[in-house]
Amino acid sequence: MKYYIVTYGCQMNVHESEKLAAICEKMGYTLAEKREEADLIVFNTCAIREGAEDRVFGNVGALKKLKKQKKDLIIAVCGCMTQKETTANHIMRTFPFVDIVIGTFNLPNFEYYVNAVKKGRQLEILESGEIDELVPYKRTSGENAWVNIMQGCNNFCTYCIVPYVRGREKSRSEENILKEIREVVAEGKYKKITLLGQNVNSYGKDLSPAVSFAKLLKDICQIEGDFKLWFMTSHPKDLTDEVIDVIANEDKILKDIHLPAQSGNNRILNLMNRRYTREKYLGIIEKIREKMPNCRITSDFIVGFPTETEEEFEDTMSLVEQVKYDSIFAFMYSPREGTVASKMEEQISQEVKQRRVNALLALEKKIQKQEGKK
Ligand code: SF4
Repeated sequence: MKYYIVTYGCQMNVHESEKLAAICEKMGYTLAEKREEADLIVFNTCAIREGAEDRVFGNVGALKKLKKQKKDLIIAVCGCMTQKETTANHIMRTFPFVDIVIGTFNLPNFEYYVNAVKKGRQLEILESGEIDELVPYKRTSGENAWVNIMQGCNNFCTYCIVPYVRGREKSRSEENILKEIREVVAEGKYKKITLLGQNVNSYGKDLSPAVSFAKLLKDICQIEGDFKLWFMTSHPKDLTDEVIDVIANEDKILKDIHLPAQSGNNRILNLMNRRYTREKYLGIIEKIREKMPNCRITSDFIVGFPTETEEEFEDTMSLVEQVKYDSIFAFMYSPREGTVASKMEEQISQEVKQRRVNALLALEKKIQKQEGKK
């Protein structure tokens, strides 16, 4: 019996697919080299961008023929897309040959669903479970080991679907994280450990007693071994001076901070519900550069947010010019159903968004050339 997993979206999904792979192997499946050989095909989906959803629909639809030839093939669609009820219903209606449709909250019950399909049983909707800490991940990212430290997000940025599909912030216990990292280090083949969370800087606020992200970083650095530590993603409103100090003082932590700004204009930042201003953001950059002059700094930007004027877009350009990032990711705003921003009037035309994203990327290229950055 063989399994095949198709993963879309962010590192969090890549890492969750490592857990799904481990669950499949625990059930006795081995990895198939291509989907045609598989008895179990899993699509671990992403809901952040519309394009990703369309690709999933296309790829799931293409399996209709295979399912006809191979009656026992089990097809599962899970992840962020299927956490949205409307999308889950759409998949079940449009692709009746799909056996399992479950959202992120139900991933811990994946084994139950596969076994139920195999036994021809009616699937029951289970309460969301806890990820089984005892099933080890099947790590697939070379010398880098992803370590998830928390799930969900409490921020509700108005363009983002994550809090709706991944729920509120839920931190793993520090004890379990340290245990996992000790095991990863003991294996001796991982040179880099990357902590993952939608908003790592608010790690541990929900634990009792609370544990700060700064403390977690310091405690991980106490683990003996030859490894470098990195983390993503940071929210500027939660990146404290204490965390900056820990990064600066601990040799094991890479001097490389990804700090999404999203916009350089205060009115747009407010509409995005980012809860920091351009001035506060620049203050953080100044602190980082003061403590770590050679720190690599990268960022994400969204252009063409509803109502964004040319002048407001120019503020984003001037922020990029001012910070001189090592690298940026620039995206055109795309409305996600169910978010506050998708209902805002004055959506910006595709043509304008395209022009703005091109201008921002051209500026980044020019700065990198001038500064000799890569
Ligand atoms: S911080 Fe904002 S953009 Fe990031 S996951 Fe949370 S809601 Fe989405």
